[in-house]
Amino acid sequence: MDTAEQLSAACPVCESTDTRLARVRSAFWHNDRLVVIEDVPALVCNACGEQFYDDTAVLMIDRIRQAGFPSEDAVRELRVPVFAFGRVGTTDVPSPEASSFTAALASEVLIRS
Ligand SMILES: [Zn+2]
Repeated sequence: MDTAEQLSAACPVCESTDTRLARVRSAFWHNDRLVVIEDVPALVCNACGEQFYDDTAVLMIDRIRQAGFPSEDAVRELRVPVFAFGRVGTTDVPSPEASSFTAALASEVLIRS
C-alpha cells in the first residue's frame, strides 16, 4: 500500500476524500484499565474528524494489547478524572439529539478491547 493511495482513501464514516496522515493518541479499555497509546500513525478525516489506522498500526496495537499493556513498558502515566453519570453539576436534561451525538463521540474516543 503506497502513501499516495492512502492519502486518497475515502473516510469510511462520511466518504470524504479530504484526509491527512497524522500521529494520534488513542485510548483503549483493557479489562478495567484505561490505557493510552501515543504517536499512532493514522489517517484523519478533515471533514468529520474520524481517525483510522492502516494494517501495520492495527498489528502494532494488537501486539501491545496481547502483551496485556504491561505497566513496565509505559513511557508515562496520566491521571484521569472520573465522573458519575447524572451527577455533573447541571439540572439540564440533554435532548435526544445531544445524547446520540455524545454516544457517537464516545465510540470514536474509546475503543473497547
Ligand atoms: Zn469523515
